[in-house]
Amino acid sequence: MNSFLISKYKDVEPYVPGEQPRDKKYIKLNTNESPYPPSDRVLRAVEESAKNLQLYPDPACRDLRATLAGSLGLKPGNILPTNGSDEVLSLSFMAYAHDEKPAYYADVTYGFYDVLSGLFGVKAEHFALENDFTIDINRYCGLGSGLIVIANPNAPTGIAIGVCEIEKICKESPDCVVLIDEAYVEFGAESCVGLVQKYPNLIVSRTYSKSMSLAGARLGYAIANEERIRELETLKYTLNPYSVNRTALAAGIAAVEDIEYYRNNCRLVAKTRDKTAEKLKELGFELTDSKANFVFCRHPGVPASELSDKLRKVGILVRHFTGERTNDWLRISVGTPEDMNQLIAALAKILTTNH
Ligand code: PMP
Repeated sequence: MNSFLISKYKDVEPYVPGEQPRDKKYIKLNTNESPYPPSDRVLRAVEESAKNLQLYPDPACRDLRATLAGSLGLKPGNILPTNGSDEVLSLSFMAYAHDEKPAYYADVTYGFYDVLSGLFGVKAEHFALENDFTIDINRYCGLGSGLIVIANPNAPTGIAIGVCEIEKICKESPDCVVLIDEAYVEFGAESCVGLVQKYPNLIVSRTYSKSMSLAGARLGYAIANEERIRELETLKYTLNPYSVNRTALAAGIAAVEDIEYYRNNCRLVAKTRDKTAEKLKELGFELTDSKANFVFCRHPGVPASELSDKLRKVGILVRHFTGERTNDWLRISVGTPEDMNQLIAALAKILTTNH
């Protein structure tokens, strides 16, 4: 059959999300969701918001903006709520990069950046991470115009950089927009939100998907200078003014009001991550120093694809990214302590039967 798709989209490579299986119940350690449910306060707010689902949501998201601004010590004009932080990324690629204004990002990072470059016809300049997956930030200094994108902590490696390093990039590439993707920042890295008033070229993207147990609600936000926020907002209004739905708005406000519950969960996840890392090392794994809600590891004796398949057979899902530099590695989301005990027991068994 003939395709009706216009030619510029014929070769776009879509993002491949982690599996959401329906055949049976798995221990899901493949998509970096929180293992903990939303708080009761959030559940009540969701229920209440559902009573008005016949009405469109506030496209300006004023209440959520005010709540977030209050919690960050910024103005509502510094915040743009979005449909997941993926929407911040889409709007930023659309706004600040094209074929002559490149997007600069690491060769091993969140796969969605390449997808967006493909979709928007953006020239992508990939800067190779070092052999140990650390980033040489000097590569991002002294660049001309374009969009620098750094996930901090990076995905899937979990390795974080400091605020001073981000400041150096903002300062030394002043004609680039610097987009810092803080999807995982709450699990142990330093946020650079404090720099947005000083650097008009900085945009920080944040999500409710991981630290706030709301991956299913699709809620994220951009934090930046008011001028950048207006630019992104204009584009949001051209694509989908109502991209953040009524229920997500209500959940987002209630979650900030219940922040201690979420902070505790993040602390617990970080503690479980570090314990899991120790146990994996005892099993012979090599790991990066992850500050995120996942670990990134490889075993010298068994290929990652084999480990992933064998874990699946015993009901545990982890993420294996094919690709030259990631093929040997597994990204394993941090679940509850019980989930991780089961993971370690399953891996120990696989490794002993393999020898
Ligand atoms: N940035 C990174 C680095 C991610 O791993 C993800 C999750 N896949 C996102 C952004 C997007 O998250 P969400 O759209 O759920 O906010």
